[in-house]
Order: sequence, then structure tokens, then C-alpha cells
Amino acid sequence: MNWASHRHWLLRRSIVGSFSSCPKVHRAAVQSPSLFAVNSKKPAVSDFLTDTYRRQHNYLRISLTEKCNLRCTYCMPEEGVPLTAHDKLLTTEEILSLAKLFVAQGVTKIRLTGGEPTIRPDIIDLVQGIGELKKSGLQSLGMTSNGLALKRKLPALRDAGLDSLNLSLDTLDPHMFEIMTRRKGFHAVMNTINEAIDIGIPHVKINTVVIRGMNDDQVLKFVGFTQNRPINVRFIEYMPFDGNRWNKEKLVPYQELLDRIQSTFGHLDKLQDDANDTTKAWRVPGYQGKIGFITSMTQHFCGTCNRLRITADGNIKVCLFGDAEVSLRDLLRQGCSEEELLRIIGAAVKKKRKQHAGMRVLGPFGRAGVDHKKVPLHMLPSTSYTPAGVHARFYSTTRNTDDVRLTHTDPDTGEARMVSVTDKQVTKRQATAVGRIVMPKKAYQLLKENHHHTAKGNVLVVAQIAGIQAAKATSQLIPLCHPLLLGKIDVQLQLNDKECSVECESMVECSGKTGVEMEALTATSVALLTVYDMCKAATKHMTIEGIRVVEKTGGKSGPWQWKDQ
Ligand code: SAM
Ligand code: SF4
Repeated sequence: MNWASHRHWLLRRSIVGSFSSCPKVHRAAVQSPSLFAVNSKKPAVSDFLTDTYRRQHNYLRISLTEKCNLRCTYCMPEEGVPLTAHDKLLTTEEILSLAKLFVAQGVTKIRLTGGEPTIRPDIIDLVQGIGELKKSGLQSLGMTSNGLALKRKLPALRDAGLDSLNLSLDTLDPHMFEIMTRRKGFHAVMNTINEAIDIGIPHVKINTVVIRGMNDDQVLKFVGFTQNRPINVRFIEYMPFDGNRWNKEKLVPYQELLDRIQSTFGHLDKLQDDANDTTKAWRVPGYQGKIGFITSMTQHFCGTCNRLRITADGNIKVCLFGDAEVSLRDLLRQGCSEEELLRIIGAAVKKKRKQHAGMRVLGPFGRAGVDHKKVPLHMLPSTSYTPAGVHARFYSTTRNTDDVRLTHTDPDTGEARMVSVTDKQVTKRQATAVGRIVMPKKAYQLLKENHHHTAKGNVLVVAQIAGIQAAKATSQLIPLCHPLLLGKIDVQLQLNDKECSVECESMVECSGKTGVEMEALTATSVALLTVYDMCKAATKHMTIEGIRVVEKTGGKSGPWQWKDQ
């Protein structure tokens, strides 16, 4: 699977740098009031942090680590991400020095993120150190966390100056939590949320990524959650990142979500949004808490973007979707002067584009905040808009039809035969197959309502396991298939409300002498058959369709991708 390069993963989750391990810079910080001293409570944003579109960057997001103790399906691959060597990550001191530098230049808001920031052993020291900057102009210190291992640290963090806590939680159903995060921990997160409210952290928010067919049925429950709690639940439009299996159907746009909520809760009050706010805030009349929508996909906020990011390994990023990065860590460790550091930061900020490139190409969402190159094309429905140039990446290596022959039959006798792979090269091979099962609306609704707790268990989970087992058993089912030692099998099933279907995608990997297309096809077929089996009491009018290999890599013929003929 084309899981984003480490770099792309980092890019999505904020970033930041550091600097006092550099003696020169540290000395300069003490000696150069023009750069480091903060003279007023509300410092103006310096020219270094102002871009050519006059956007003033007073908000810094610092990623503390790439590691995470959850594996949210929309965010991270099951096996985690490749980690940067420890000595390449910013140290506590470096982070504090960089925070100080940015605050001196006019940053008033810092948010710590990750990966999972609470994994860092120095998290309390960091919050304490950055919290000290509130004496010199910093107005808000926040953290975004999954809340899994946070509850006991909360009082110390609050005392150290943490005033804003965003906790990610995508469902109020413990079982679904386990499916979405691939880990247990729902109750730990709920305890953290309650503790954060109880000990009086001023701003407690819940971040909920909404995915159609996965957790969109939770949205109304989350709205109800705000009735008696001083909490702000923010629904985030699902964004495509390399390999996270995004597709347009899974996105629930802001307007649709708002309509759905209003049709249950009645008219909502629109609240005033701050100038640089990425959230559109609303409240159910009479409710204590608020709800909000982060519309990164349907309505971008580039025009008012005031954010800079520093990655855990010390790169500054001026745009979440941009590729340009400068290593502040290297500059610090090379002992560069603070003037030089600021000059380089300023140059990066000045290069910030008016809006990120993805917006100009994604089409169906108009201003969607996405680089189309990060969206696997086969996951876009064939009827969808195709951004110019995208097909260029999806080439077919189908051979000249004159050469085509059936390799599993003897060319002279027509008898079945197994192809010899003895002399073939061992290479890493991967194949992805998709397919779906379509059913009448009534049966689909039944499946949807009950899919967590049917008599035979969770349909999608059972089907997923069936698909995995089937991939492993392929050579026993298909006579001329070679048995393979599979390195990875990933079977994903999603509900598609619009089509009343269950969509399946199976990716299989191995290092071997022959490909894994058959394993991917078998996994998809058996997963869909399992859905059929579990729903057949409700209806027999189901069609399993569109089973096909959409992508394959490795082997002599190299990469191949499905192209509509
Ligand atoms: N681990 C922490 C957490 O989950 O809160 C902090 C890092 S996490 C990457 C930051 C935020 O990004 C979370 O609120 C998460 O829900 C959100 N996020 C991750 N993947 C996303 C996606 N594909 N679309 C939209 N938001 C996403
Ligand atoms: Fe990603 Fe945060 Fe989930 Fe970890 S907890 S996988 S960083 S969204």
C-alpha cells in the first residue's frame, strides 16, 4: 500500500522545532533583545512571520512525536509509521527555545500535537516551559490528544498553563471505537474528557472525524452530548491522506451534516466565529455546550490561515498541504545565528502560497483542501470528476494483445498446468482488489442499524475476518495457484448509504516469486459472500458486483493499475 511517506504523514500532523542545544543560538537569545525579548503583553506579528498576502502567523502548532498509541483507520496504517531516529527529534530544550523565538516574533497561540503528544515523557516539562511564555505574550497554550493516557497528567498540565484541550473521539460506542482506532480504550478517553471538564480546563473540545457509513450515525449522539456539558464538539470533514482509503462517498459535507442535525434538533443558533477560526460554531438553543464544523474539504480557510507548523524532527512547514520544509533543527545544531534562523524562517513564510495546490485540482469539491495525488484514483467512483492529469499516474502495462496467452494452460495440449516459478526473482508484491454487494434499501437499513450487533455478530467485522482467512486459503481453492507466505492482508468494508451497498477493498502483500492478485480477489469475494450470508434472511435480492483487481505492484511486469476501457 502506498502509505504516505513518513514525510507526508508528518506533514498532516503539525510540526515544530527547537533550539537551545545550539550554544550560539542560546547565547544570542540572551544577548539579542531585538529578536528574543518580548516587550509587550501582546506583541505584534513581526515581518518574519508575515507572508506576501499579509497573513500574520501568530499560531504555531508543534508536533512532539510521530508515535501514537492508537491506529485510527483514517489516519495511520495498522503497522504505524516509520519513526525518525530519536536523536533527530527535537529535544525539550530545542522545542522550548523555538517556542520562545516564535512568541518573541508575535506568536500568541501554541498547540502541541503529534502523533500522540502525551507519549512524550517530557510532556509536563514542555507544557511548563511553554506555559512560562504566557508572561511574555503567549495567550493560549493548547494540546490535541487522543486522551488515552492523559487523565492522570491533566491536573499538572492545567497548573502548568494548558488552557485548551482538544480530545479526539469519533464515536460514543465502545465497540465502534475499537474498530475505528484498532485499539481498546474508549472508557479511558471518556474518563479524560470528564476529568478535563471537572478540573476546569477552560476550553475542552472533542474532535470527531465523520466518515459516512462508519460513524456518521454517531453525530446526533454527539450533539446530545453537548446538552449538559461545557464542551465543544467539532465535526471534521474526512480528509484524504496517502493510503487512508478516503473516497468522496465517505465524506459527509458540512451542509449535509448541519441539515441532518437541524432536522432532529430544530433550528440551531449560529455563533460568532473568530477571524482565523477554522471552525463554524453553532449551538442547540438552551444547550450548555457547542458544536462546530471543520470544513477543510468543502470550504477551505487559506485566506485567513495564520498557522505555522513545526514537525517533531524540527522542520518548519508553512502549509499543511505544502511540501517545502526547512530543517530548523539542522540550523540550530549547526550553530547558526538567530538572525540567520529568522531570515530563513522569514523566507519560508514569504514563500507561502495564497492557497495550497490541491485546491485547484480536485474539482468535485471545488475548493477542497486536498492534493489529488494523495487520493487513490481507484477509490473515486468512475462517474466522478477526474482532475486533469490524474490519469497520467494510472497507466496500464497490459501487453500487446498479440502476446497475450493463458499461462495456466499448456499451449500445445490445452491442459491445465501450474506455471513454474522456480527461476523467478523474489520481489515484494502487492495487489488490491475491490468489489461490492448491493441490496434493497430496506435490507440495507437493517444491516446499517444492526451492523454492530446482529445475531451473527458485527457483519462487517465477520466479513473482514472471512476475507483475511480466505486470502490465506487461496491456493487451496484455486487449483493452479501457488501457496504463498503472505506478509500482509488488509480487508476493509464500508457502508455506502447512497448506493445501499457494502464496498470492499482488499490489499495483500508478500515477498515472493509470484503475485498476489488471486489472494486479493479471493479476499474480496469471500468477504462479500459473507455479507450475503449474514443478510440473506432479510433479502435474497443482493448482487455481488464489480470484483476486480485495481492495482498491482512488483514482479517482472512492474506496477499496473486499473484503467476504465
Ligand atoms: N493524536 C492526537 C489526536 O488524535 O488528537 C493528535 C494528532 S491527530 C493527527 C490531530 C487531529 O487530526 C485529530 O483530531 C484527528 O482526528 C485529525 N485527523 C487525523 N486524520 C484525519 C483525516 N483523515 N481527516 C480529518 N481529520 C483527521
Ligand atoms: Fe492519528 Fe491521533 Fe488517531 Fe493517533 S490518535 S492514529 S495520531 S488521529
